[in-house]
Amino acid sequence: TTEIRGSLMHMSIGKTKTTGKVDRATVENAIDLRTRMAIFKMINNNLFQHINGCISTGKEANVYHATDSDGQEYAIKIHKTSVLGFKDRNKYVKGDRRFERAYCSRNPREMGKTWAEKELKNLYRIAAKGIRCPKPRHQKLHMVVMDFIGKDGWAAPRLKDADLSLGKLLEGYVEIIVAMRDLYQKCRLVHGDLSEYNILYYEGHLYIIDVSQAVDIDHPCAHCLLFEDCKHVSDFFKKHGVGVMTKTELFKFIVN
Ligand code: ADP
Ligand code: MN
Repeated sequence: TTEIRGSLMHMSIGKTKTTGKVDRATVENAIDLRTRMAIFKMINNNLFQHINGCISTGKEANVYHATDSDGQEYAIKIHKTSVLGFKDRNKYVKGDRRFERAYCSRNPREMGKTWAEKELKNLYRIAAKGIRCPKPRHQKLHMVVMDFIGKDGWAAPRLKDADLSLGKLLEGYVEIIVAMRDLYQKCRLVHGDLSEYNILYYEGHLYIIDVSQAVDIDHPCAHCLLFEDCKHVSDFFKKHGVGVMTKTELFKFIVN
């Protein structure tokens, strides 16, 4: 139908560039044929109807905005399937048997899929305990469909860009440290890349995103990753004038 074709055309404009061969992702941001076919199937299964554009292009993933026939909005995160995207992720992979297997296979497509599976699973675990995050919807290959945090195509700002009053920052600080504690105590997860870059501010609340690399609390690096998360969160709020606990106090608050 024209709708599907329309979506495909949208996907091939903007940041996406193809050179001759359309079935190969020769350019960083290109969506290859396999991925397009999977997107077709998701459209046919009514998971969404239109892909409207790109929200973010990153080293490890691109995120697109989509809507369904009811106007409900989604974010589609397409993890990279190129080795380049995996360089900084070794620390999460080591110590996780499922990861190590995919990693050792050196098949970047498998790796991308593993990140997507992990992200969906973690989002379910987080949402199930009532911690604010995008509601997970679906995963196929290296893609995750989740609810869009934002409205009318406008994505919620990252905490870094939210420009909040001191009062709102103080509320946000309390909210995020409780969320970090719940994540640890109730979900038995450590985010591992938590900072003002992976927290969205929407309608007065903080939402945790980018959880594909979150590790179990018994992962060999869980506590050092948690300590880094504590440092990033404390540093951000301190820099903006909130009287915060020290990172060591925060760490103790979370694990005890
Ligand atoms: P990465 O950092 O690996 O590129 P993220 O999951 O952090 O991937 O997503 C990148 C950016 O896309 C985020 O900073 C945010 O601006 C946007 N984004 C991601 N998920 C959503 C979502 N569910 N709703 C709205 N915006 C999102
Ligand atoms: Mn991120």
